[in-house]
Amino acid sequence: MSSKVSRKQFLKGMAVGGTMTLAASTLAGCQKAMPSGPVPSKWDEEADVVVVGTGFAGLAAAIEAKNAGAAVKVIDKMETPGGNSIINGGDFAAPGNWYQKEQGIEDSPELMLKDMLKAGLNLNHVDRAKVLTEKALEAAEWARDYIGAEFYRLTFHGGHSVPRTVQLVKGGSELINKMLKKLQELGVTVETQRKLERLIVDEAGRVVGIEARDGYTFGDETSGKTIYIKAKKAVVLATGGFSRDIKMRMIHDPRLTEAFESTNHPGATGEALRAALKIGAMDVHMDWIQLGPWASPDEPGFGYVPLFCERVVGWAPMINPKTGKRFINETGNRKVRADAIIEIGVPVIIVADTYATEKNVPANVIENGLKIGAIKKFDTLEEVAKEYGIPWDAFKAEVERWNQFVENKKDEDFNCMIFQDAKPLGFQPPFYAARLWPKVHHTMGGLVTDVNGRVINQDFQPIPGLYAAGEVTGGIHGAVRLGGVAMADCVVFGRIAGKNAAAETPAA
Ligand SMILES: Cc1cc2nc3c(=O)[nH]c(=O)nc-3n(C[C@H](O)[C@H](O)[C@H](O)COP(=O)(O)OP(=O)(O)OC[C@H]3O[C@@H](n4cnc5c(N)ncnc54)[C@H](O)[C@@H]3O)c2cc1C
Repeated sequence: MSSKVSRKQFLKGMAVGGTMTLAASTLAGCQKAMPSGPVPSKWDEEADVVVVGTGFAGLAAAIEAKNAGAAVKVIDKMETPGGNSIINGGDFAAPGNWYQKEQGIEDSPELMLKDMLKAGLNLNHVDRAKVLTEKALEAAEWARDYIGAEFYRLTFHGGHSVPRTVQLVKGGSELINKMLKKLQELGVTVETQRKLERLIVDEAGRVVGIEARDGYTFGDETSGKTIYIKAKKAVVLATGGFSRDIKMRMIHDPRLTEAFESTNHPGATGEALRAALKIGAMDVHMDWIQLGPWASPDEPGFGYVPLFCERVVGWAPMINPKTGKRFINETGNRKVRADAIIEIGVPVIIVADTYATEKNVPANVIENGLKIGAIKKFDTLEEVAKEYGIPWDAFKAEVERWNQFVENKKDEDFNCMIFQDAKPLGFQPPFYAARLWPKVHHTMGGLVTDVNGRVINQDFQPIPGLYAAGEVTGGIHGAVRLGGVAMADCVVFGRIAGKNAAAETPAA
């Protein structure tokens, strides 16, 4: 074989090697964390592996570390466990899954990777994204078969080229509650109201434990008392994203003032991520902060409208109320849709008829949305126009045009993916409509980790004794996270981090 490497081969190798190549490089600097303050002379508690955070990533890590024989401690700063994961919609991207097989939908890890890279503008750390796509199905099966979580159907999210998300009954709480039960069976107690404040580094530059506030009440920084927990093998950071940290998100994207609501739980703040930066961890993509284009200004938090909107895209049009016209590919990724709505400057409208709604949206979503007024019901499209101030003639003409595209199963204006069973709008009145305005939903940026879940430092080397998984990490999604891929990321890399943390040699 020739020793010469073509430019194409070289670039291909770089793309696949990604962060691992950097971590393994012998040219890179030292494998150490920076000191963060004194190492306590006496520890209050200890475990082999200390997991911080009780979302999908933290609980997956804790279960795997325990099953690998480690003594595990799991803490969370909030009063109740689960973070964003427990309020999550429960859509888990898994290429080649059992529902796809039943329905004859062809899919593969390679196709999912292609979709992720396209949406992520090729900023994704390919090595980790590849592991994610290759292990996502196994992770969903682990959730179903080992944890006992119940899934009930296949769903579609914008930016995927096929429907590939398996959805949990009762959303993310189904998996979180069953993981908590599994941990209990394994003899691991989840300790809430314990907030990580500092990662403790020994003289050799290894993370050997944490400083935490025990008895912490969220929002009261003086509550509780300081304790020191020794991590004989490793700390796993699984502290989620920073969508609710207004100061931090505005540093990275100054547009995201308090005027933007968030879909996240209140504790989605970034102090744990910053604790890792303080000991020399590297961060990436911090200014890629995702807005959910399917959110409604007429309800707090995540609410019901996302579960209506995201289920009827590809069946129903989104309308600019100023012009009465469509303005974007409704099945496009979250960023293109959110940016287009912000550009319009006022909430846009999604309108579906009973046929599309009954086929796709759980009845309780519509009932609850109607009850709080975020979803409205209309007998005619003219009433829809009147309610939202949409110019009727233009709207009517646009619906006729849309209906033609639906008949032909081809959108000539925006290339929206029109589903096979979709029927023209008005096939079965009455109509359901909602206003859409983006909310801060996901922080793609975070700590740089390698394929083994180890946190990488500013010298491109793994920090001894420190792992991370889930939304606290960055790079895997690139510019845009696709729907359902966060769950796959959390479970795949939570499991990897937990197993590897348990396999560490204890600190001297
Ligand atoms: C409403 C909603 C719906 C979603 N639906 C989907 C979906 O259907 N599919 C999908 O793939 N993704 C979805 N996502 C995204 C996905 O749910 C999240 O990315 C994922 O749950 C993050 O999991 P995690 O384990 O990384 O963090 P989290 O689940 O947020 O858990 C982090 C935990 O760490 C704790 N913590 C933080 N800081 C500290 C500290 N200093 N000390 C101690 N504890 C700390 C927090 O209190 C929290 O409990 C959704 C997100 C939201 C908000």
